Amino acid sequence: MKAVIIGAGPAGMAAAACLKTEGITPVILDRADTIASSWHSHYDCLHLHTARGRSTLPGLDYPRGVGKFPSRTDVIAYLEAYATHHGLSPRLGCTVEKVEKTGDGWQVTHSSGTETAEIVVMATGVNGTPRHPDWPGRFDGPILHSSRYRNPAPFAGQRVLVVGFGNSGGDIALDLANAGVDVTLSVRGPVNILPKQLFGIPITSFGLMTKALGYKVADALTAPVLRLAVGKPEDYGLRSMAKGPAALVHEDDRIPLIDTGTLGAIKAGRIAVKPGIERLDGAEVRFSDGTAAPFDTIIAAIGYTVDLRPLLGPDSAALDATGRPVASGAPTPEPGLYFCSYKVSPDGQLYATSREAIAIAQHAKTLTRKAHS
Ligand SMILES: Cc1cc2nc3c(=O)[nH]c(=O)nc-3n(C[C@H](O)[C@H](O)[C@H](O)COP(=O)(O)OP(=O)(O)OC[C@H]3O[C@@H](n4cnc5c(N)ncnc54)[C@H](O)[C@@H]3O)c2cc1C
Repeated sequence: MKAVIIGAGPAGMAAAACLKTEGITPVILDRADTIASSWHSHYDCLHLHTARGRSTLPGLDYPRGVGKFPSRTDVIAYLEAYATHHGLSPRLGCTVEKVEKTGDGWQVTHSSGTETAEIVVMATGVNGTPRHPDWPGRFDGPILHSSRYRNPAPFAGQRVLVVGFGNSGGDIALDLANAGVDVTLSVRGPVNILPKQLFGIPITSFGLMTKALGYKVADALTAPVLRLAVGKPEDYGLRSMAKGPAALVHEDDRIPLIDTGTLGAIKAGRIAVKPGIERLDGAEVRFSDGTAAPFDTIIAAIGYTVDLRPLLGPDSAALDATGRPVASGAPTPEPGLYFCSYKVSPDGQLYATSREAIAIAQHAKTLTRKAHS
């Protein structure tokens, strides 16, 4: 039996390795010219927020010498080694344009031809399409999405506004501040902030507590400890979210901010904080509290969108009304079609990716049995 896997990022590689273990031949297609392409284009200073031991894919650990929180280049080296270890050879420069059901399987149309297979695993990631800002007005300087930020060098001597306090926005604001750039962080809504480690234990390890106790109890138990560890958002000129971090993941499919030093830089006055943008006004930005300030560049750390309807069609039963998969790491209403790593996890995304890849391969094996009986 054959499976076409779309995407040669961590999810595609993990799914391919697990399918191969179950005796299913994986064909991996990726539009980029390298495996792990998203990691090649992340900002230079990026270190995982999840610990090494919870950031591996099935069947291979990080090599000795890699730190507790692997760097971007460690992740790239790991993913390359992963492909070699499992004998995976993704077909690169191959953009998938359509995935269609046939009588007994699936047809995948891509930039160099077609593939047919009994199984298709979508592993195109949730960070491939940058969300576009919709601020009214006009800004004189450049507005770039956080996905295009690499390092502080091009911003030396500038006044930079970073919009959005998610994990990328926090990291980028800190990277700029550490390089002496005049940086302001615009934070529209209330926030939920976690330390990277608690009592020396990586914060994502506490996801297990959520599983054992349920997310509401886990939030209630951890709230006082978190307050001691990171203080109140109000201490930093921010607003607290009414719900706890586990509820944010479970109810809203969003991940809390993991602080890597941004809060300290705010407290030290090295990063200024402003509320949400009301409008752009030439060289200035006007904020919702009525203040305005001039900036040279805006970095929009406002996230990404996912819409798989262009690939699977507008009527696919496996997608919801917005084009997101209805199930990730589990069987879908379309037999033989799977999605890997489209759901936010409190355990860390790579950890969840591994679990999903294993579950997909185990389910796909049951299709093999049916086909042979
Ligand atoms: C800045 C940042 C930091 C992160 N840090 C962590 C962390 O510390 N810990 C953690 O667990 N997770 C982290 N994540 C989340 C997650 O683990 C990564 O985003 C991970 O790369 C997701 O893997 P993926 O394979 O699902 O997607 P991707 O890595 O995005 O791979 C998707 C692949 O699909 C390909 N593709 C897309 N569309 C097509 C198409 N039509 N045809 C062919 N190929 C296509 C792309 O070229 C790409 O190679 C982070 C994410 C970001 C953005």
